[in-house]
Amino acid sequence: MNWITNYVRPRINSLFSRREVPENLWTKCPECGTMLFHRELSDNLNVCTNCDHHLAITPRERFAALFDGGVFSEVKVPEPLADPLQFRDQKKYPDRMRAAQKSTGEKEAMLVAEGEMGRTPIVAAAQDFSFMGGSMGMYVGNAIIAAAERAVKLKRPLVLFSAAGGARMQEGILSLMQMPRTTVAVEMLREAGLPYIVVLTHPTTGGVTASYAMLGDIQISEPGALICFAGPRVIEQTIREKLPEGFQRAEYLLEHGMLDRVTHRMQLRDELISILRMLGGMPAPTRADLPAPAETAVPSPEDNVKPEEKPAS
Ligand SMILES: [Zn+2]
Repeated sequence: MNWITNYVRPRINSLFSRREVPENLWTKCPECGTMLFHRELSDNLNVCTNCDHHLAITPRERFAALFDGGVFSEVKVPEPLADPLQFRDQKKYPDRMRAAQKSTGEKEAMLVAEGEMGRTPIVAAAQDFSFMGGSMGMYVGNAIIAAAERAVKLKRPLVLFSAAGGARMQEGILSLMQMPRTTVAVEMLREAGLPYIVVLTHPTTGGVTASYAMLGDIQISEPGALICFAGPRVIEQTIREKLPEGFQRAEYLLEHGMLDRVTHRMQLRDELISILRMLGGMPAPTRADLPAPAETAVPSPEDNVKPEEKPAS
């Protein structure tokens, strides 16, 4: 610790980071190519204002928009053993983890929270595709079990938002073991008579589709989401045939009876509230039941305030 590290380095860093800001103000829609102003985009829950393409949204942003007044508290997830196989590909597994933690600011690929949505108490879990492809490892398994146990303890429904490239290969068979583990967790909810709602988001693939993401009492998907076990490219190469238009996309799956609903992200909250209140035998949500508009304002990422730090209204 000296003058250079304490004073000069931060100054230099701040000069460089300041220059990066204007580039981050705009996001290009991957579907229609429109340049979207970041403020406008986050107000629209990361849905393109031009073509309605649903861009990725982090679990924290989603929860801030979902829970009343953006207020929720995180459910603690038991830490699994780190790097049990001492796995290494081009990079060591712990190095990959550290890089993902640094770029996302999250500990792992799933966030579990409890709170109220339209005055309906719930437990929610959301998978983070930006964290190593949302891959399902031991932590994600622990997170789903923690969410289910919490829901059973509080007698609340569980709402799960899935997004994953599949199982985490760095954990080998231990990641595949999360498929039966999470299935047992879902069974716990069933035995307790509690609703389990799955919202599939783009993309939900591999072992996640083959376990907890397809076991919901009600299966909802965001528009255009790819939902599959093996991806279209793999299937095309295997059967050597051209696949139909929109194959394995949410709308195709809805048409073929794999899903119950395909719902726009902006309508998702209201729809979830209606479904949960209906299943819970509660009166339908009325305008008076919902918090005043000022309280539901979604905190933007620039505010840099974590929702759980805000005083409860
Ligand atoms: Zn677009």
